[in-house]
Amino acid sequence: MKIHNFSAGPAILPREVIEQAAAGILDADGSGLSMLELSHRGKTVMAVFEEAEALLREIAGITDDFAVLFLSGGASTQFYQVPMNLLNEGETAAYLDTGVWAAKAIKEAKAFGQVAVVASSKADGYKYIPKQYDVPGDAVYLHYTSNNTIYGTQHHALPVGDRPLVCDMSSDFLSRPIDWSRHDVVYAGAQKNLGPAGVTIVVIRRSVLGRVSRHLPSMLDYRLHDSNDSMYNTPPVYAVYVSMLTLRWIKAQGGLTAIEKHNMDKAALLYKAIDESSLFVGVTAESDRSLMNVTFIASDPDIEKPFLDFVKHRGIDGIKGHRSVGGFRASIYNAMPFEGVEALVAAIKDFR
Ligand code: PMP
Repeated sequence: MKIHNFSAGPAILPREVIEQAAAGILDADGSGLSMLELSHRGKTVMAVFEEAEALLREIAGITDDFAVLFLSGGASTQFYQVPMNLLNEGETAAYLDTGVWAAKAIKEAKAFGQVAVVASSKADGYKYIPKQYDVPGDAVYLHYTSNNTIYGTQHHALPVGDRPLVCDMSSDFLSRPIDWSRHDVVYAGAQKNLGPAGVTIVVIRRSVLGRVSRHLPSMLDYRLHDSNDSMYNTPPVYAVYVSMLTLRWIKAQGGLTAIEKHNMDKAALLYKAIDESSLFVGVTAESDRSLMNVTFIASDPDIEKPFLDFVKHRGIDGIKGHRSVGGFRASIYNAMPFEGVEALVAAIKDFR
């Protein structure tokens, strides 16, 4: 039976990328060696990193004003690495609190400077994205989470104000075009739309590098990773290799505009089925619905377990909601084909 993987992350990757990744484990680029056993200083791996960066710049429209880094430590490391590198003691950074990941970023930033939480939807279970708030004029940056993986909310417009933006784009990176003009930093763990867990992408405006006066440990100093082309220490080679394969796939799909259209069509199909069903209701404010993580609950909690059992027999995997929200969450990242969403829509209809 075909299994449709709706997991929130690590998540679905394109089938052809997985096949190429498997082939690369046996023989990397005709070298007779496995991608898992090659030196990061050798020709093959250097070429992988160069191609990954070039493709990322091309696909996402990233100019030389920005450094593109392949780091480890997950987005969770960026929660403190960003303020450590950008925020001096006594300076203020603004944060939008739209979920537990945002709250974790807020907690970490407090160790480095003043934090102004300009808006929060916590009191309403993070069911919407706040849109009216004031950002202090002296804020070094405004941090936001573009897509809130757990709740299924997404920014469909940039945050308000004119402060430079720092974005945790972990769960919608490369799902749509990115406007770089207001961003100083975008970071994302690879494990939703790009590759396996283990590599974190950081895109940072070069002009903000070195703006803090504090001492930075070498591994946490973006400048060192930039000047060493992400090879200051041994990088997560295989994770970058698979990400590079996915970037080739994104390009072949027609780039981010085509990917965005596909994502919009898939999400529309699923939300329509939920809205039309008498058994299920969407969780979030309609205007803030995520195109990546579709959250919904059963109007009668007693049917939750039977529904999960029902979909399991149809090969639908990973739709149990996050423990803090309950209900269901169908993650429909870039690599989820139409056919997978159609299988879930059919299950919603047939279950009735
Ligand atoms: N931010 C968001 C929006 C996430 O969805 C996640 C992980 N699901 C994280 C941060 C944490 O990422 P990591 O596990 O890579 O540290």
